[in-house]
Amino acid sequence: MSTQAATPAPARPATEPAARATGLGKVYGEGETRVVALDAVSVEFGRGRFTAIMGPSGSGKSTLMHCMAGLDSITSGSTRIGGTELSGLTDRQLTRLRRDSVGFVFQAFNLLPTLTALENITLPMAIAGRRPDRQWLDTVVATVGLSGRLGHRPAQLSGGQQQRVAVARALASRPEIVFADEPTGNLDSRAGSEILGFLQRSVRELGQTVVMVTHDPAAAAHADRVVFLADGRLTDELLAPTAEGVLDRMRQFDTGARTS
Ligand code: ADP
Repeated sequence: MSTQAATPAPARPATEPAARATGLGKVYGEGETRVVALDAVSVEFGRGRFTAIMGPSGSGKSTLMHCMAGLDSITSGSTRIGGTELSGLTDRQLTRLRRDSVGFVFQAFNLLPTLTALENITLPMAIAGRRPDRQWLDTVVATVGLSGRLGHRPAQLSGGQQQRVAVARALASRPEIVFADEPTGNLDSRAGSEILGFLQRSVRELGQTVVMVTHDPAAAAHADRVVFLADGRLTDELLAPTAEGVLDRMRQFDTGARTS
């Protein structure tokens, strides 16, 4: 168990995944209200890969993401971001790891209304007292198609544009991994597919690692891999998914659930 610095060293073994859970268990409540949200989940998210997490409502998708991102405590097992074991960290180290090594994109954008798009994008780094890498920032802004909108405030932007700002903010610090929780849930299908395209480009062209929770087979088809959860357990995975392939797999689960 490591209690070393929260920021992973720049030189990392090429084979080391961006994030890993081993035997991860998460229990909420006690007695009659006890809920096993995650039951011994072991999963790796490879560097430079785009993974979708799918499963019925209540299957543990958000809990898995929150535990792996260090936003929620775990009951058993272990979680790592890069080479860093989360349970070995002090609160301060964990805060630093989340700030420096993890990016988040939420369904509700979560932008500050009084700041411009650019200020929203660079806010986490400003809080950390870090100067943004200008070249990287320009690349990210160009990749998500925000050039020309940087001086606008969130209220002056469409939902799709606001989510682009949130994606750029998540990528700005060049994190080890980006977790996206239903990032297209509040968008119409055109804006949604644009956001999915940007996430895909951030993986393919910028080498970022993205893990996305979604219930939409078409969204999941943008990923390189889909992992399926049911009742807090990892049940299946699909590589190079298509929307039809994902739908088929979901139908099999439904049939299995009805006949079991
Ligand atoms: P999903 O994201 O797949 O919909 P969740 O991870 O939100 O599923 O929830 C998994 C299970 O854990 C559900 O049964 C849910 O009711 C329960 N759960 C989630 N968060 C809490 C919490 N804060 N307190 C108690 N139970 C929770």
